Amino acid sequence: IPVVIHVIYNTTEQNISDAQILSQIMSLTKDYRRLNADTGNTPGVFKSLAADTIIQFCLAKIDPQGNYTKGIVRKYNKTQVFLSDDAMKFSSKGGDDSWDTTRYLNIWVCNLSGNTLGYGVLPGSPLDRDGVVIKYNAFGTIGRLAVPYTKGRTATHEIGHWLGLKHLCGDAACSDDGIADTPLQETSNTYCPKFPHLSSCFTNSYGDMFMNFMDFTDDGCMNLFTKGQKAAMRGLFASGGPRNSFLNSNVCDGSLAEGGPVAEDSQTNPIKIKTYANPFDNSVTITCDNQSKVIGHSLKIYNTAGKLIISQIILAQNTTLALGNLPSGIYILKVESKNGEFVHKLIKQGK
Ligand code: ZN
Ligand code: CA
Repeated sequence: IPVVIHVIYNTTEQNISDAQILSQIMSLTKDYRRLNADTGNTPGVFKSLAADTIIQFCLAKIDPQGNYTKGIVRKYNKTQVFLSDDAMKFSSKGGDDSWDTTRYLNIWVCNLSGNTLGYGVLPGSPLDRDGVVIKYNAFGTIGRLAVPYTKGRTATHEIGHWLGLKHLCGDAACSDDGIADTPLQETSNTYCPKFPHLSSCFTNSYGDMFMNFMDFTDDGCMNLFTKGQKAAMRGLFASGGPRNSFLNSNVCDGSLAEGGPVAEDSQTNPIKIKTYANPFDNSVTITCDNQSKVIGHSLKIYNTAGKLIISQIILAQNTTLALGNLPSGIYILKVESKNGEFVHKLIKQGK
């Protein structure tokens, strides 16, 4: 899932670092892939229900205009405190407009009022409001975080809503969250109860699954999604599903962007190298908008093990290479020029 982070800040403390943002992206992937360090805390009776959802997150590498981006937008604003009224989602209201919500998961990080740590919308919400909002000091796993919101799980939980999940208690006494393998629960849990925590509607002797990411317990208390939740979330990506468009989003893949891959370079360096089709099946065409800078220089393709596969001199603005014989996978293209070397990733599609 490609993510764009909109940091809407008033104080320097609210203008959180790139490193703090990255820590959130990494912890999201760990939680959703069940690679989190505290999986061992899942009670034995629930372990067989715990799932690797096979959902991963990255900061977007291409912006809606097709250019390279860090996937982070920073915007100062006079607004000191935001209510949960979506103002942060609109430039006209002191926030920042969403990026195409059919291709990007938009996360707004700002100073939410009171005890609100964040909120997320369910699929099917108005497109310009689609995404999640997280308070700046409950975001990521490093930086100045408010204890006990130090493991990035506000975002794990809110993105669970964005992927269609409800709270375990179903938001009414003993009502259903629509997921078969999460036990019925009388009400939400907070802090970190002792296991087992029985409630009046329990249907098993283990009581509540209060360590599920979709309860309200402390970050250090939660550690799993279930297989049922996995199936529900992944179901949204099926053909006709509300998140299906993400399967066609390539904005995690910087090699598909226009322009050079090095941001610092692209400002002083007007050369643009493009590759198409990429991902490719049988051939790739490499083109340069400034042919005098590349003709006579070399073009090389390596596999991910670093083995040189193709090396040739560039003779024209467009170079088409027949690569139908290569195994599917990732390749590295290096184009030399008068202005230095350009590196692109090429993807050979599977059969
Ligand atoms: Zn919630
Ligand atoms: Ca359930």
